[in-house]
Amino acid sequence: MPYIREIIRDGHPTLRKVAKRVDPKEIAEPLFQQLIDDMFETMYDAPGVGLAAPQVNVSKRLFVMDVHDDEHEPAVVINPKIESAEEEVELTEGCLSVPGMVGEIVRYKRMIVSGLDRDGKKIRLEGEGLFAQCLQHEIDHLDGVLYVDKARNVREAVTEEEKEIVETASE
Ligand code: ZN
Repeated sequence: MPYIREIIRDGHPTLRKVAKRVDPKEIAEPLFQQLIDDMFETMYDAPGVGLAAPQVNVSKRLFVMDVHDDEHEPAVVINPKIESAEEEVELTEGCLSVPGMVGEIVRYKRMIVSGLDRDGKKIRLEGEGLFAQCLQHEIDHLDGVLYVDKARNVREAVTEEEKEIVETASE
């Protein structure tokens, strides 16, 4: 059974490490599959649209995401690689590891990312808007980067719109 893991917060050293690549042989192991299930459970409970392994104190290169749109299924991406990134835009962003805060950040509008799925098969994810934003946010986590490092006007979420970002669009 999946269980909800603790989401660590800014200040915890694991969030600042460059996470290790996953050995593809490890993916089929029950403990690794459990980690994936637990990450989905933890993300939905938070709630958030994405969660990277370092946020549950596991310094490995994988993340889960579900942006709840019509084009994209929930996904787990292991050893992600950015294949293309286009057109910069400024967006408001939050993070489950920096609770209650939002800020403005420059992100690419469109992204293509490749990686492995939970069966170890190659996948390629492509999207715009929140989907692309989430991909960048989660990959940053794997490199020890938090959005607050790059964002401007980081502030407490006060308006309904800002709270929505913290609660449902935060990654
Ligand atoms: Zn985050």
